[in-house]
Amino acid sequence: MSEKVRVAITGGSGRMGRTLIEAARQQPIIYLGAVIERAGSTLIGVDAGELAGVGSMNVPITDSLDLAVDDFDVLIDFTSPEASLIHTDWCARHGKAIVIGTTGFNHSQKELISAYAEKIPVVMAPNMAVGVNLLWKLLEIAAEVMGDYSDIEIIEAHHRHKKDAPSGTALKMGEVIAETLGRDLDKCAVYGREGITGERDRETIGFSTIRAGDIVGEHTAMFADIGERIEITHKASSRMTFANGAMRAASWLVDQDSGLYDMQQVLGLK
Ligand code: NAD
Repeated sequence: MSEKVRVAITGGSGRMGRTLIEAARQQPIIYLGAVIERAGSTLIGVDAGELAGVGSMNVPITDSLDLAVDDFDVLIDFTSPEASLIHTDWCARHGKAIVIGTTGFNHSQKELISAYAEKIPVVMAPNMAVGVNLLWKLLEIAAEVMGDYSDIEIIEAHHRHKKDAPSGTALKMGEVIAETLGRDLDKCAVYGREGITGERDRETIGFSTIRAGDIVGEHTAMFADIGERIEITHKASSRMTFANGAMRAASWLVDQDSGLYDMQQVLGLK
């Protein structure tokens, strides 16, 4: 593909938004057509490049997707579940593809996104780091070999500002393991501050969450038996890994038909 992929970024002043702007500048195949931030932000009208500390890109931040309608083909959205639904609805009405990195959707919100994906191409992935998408494969192998007789615990750590818990990635890890073992993820346990009372139920998958400082994102799946345990860990040390994954998803999505895709498909892993 020789032509640049024209993208827009919503939530441009957020932690991921700023990183996405920088990633867009670094990728020769990407053209950043627009940056959108919610109405009322003091950043409206500033230059996106200045915001991300990467010098002038002459892309102003606006509060309206309508103003940017002719400037991009793929929207990259790392905002909030409510905002992402509004943005996906807008994309479905205007025939734009969308890459959704936002996490924390409930079941009915996910169903709405599936419905929009009948009209437009959508990539949705709770974690766009390439390494995490290899992690799903490693988890399947560990679950097949050790899952039936070990206790399974998922531990995740993120920065103090993260809103949802357990993280979308931790839940997806649980889903992959539960599916491999034919178990029901709804019977998992979320320990949180209450901890565990009584003996551990061997059938459940436990989730523990840490929120501290500026941790970018760490996830471990532990398969523990008496006498040995396996721990599979992914650590993200820079948000750039998620942003580069999102750029890869955008340049892949531009050639796809309507449908709901994940990063495994973007990376050719399934
Ligand atoms: P953040 O709070 O720093 O940024 C969110 C941004 O969205 C803010 O700038 C906010 O103003 C903006 N926003 C909210 N509503 C908006 C609207 N209606 N229109 C335009 N902008 C709007 O959060 P963050 O740390 O950047 O994370 C954002 C989301 O991305 C979270 O759900 C997080 O879990 C997720 N995330 C996903 C991945 C991944 O790989 N999929 C990686 C990191 C973070």
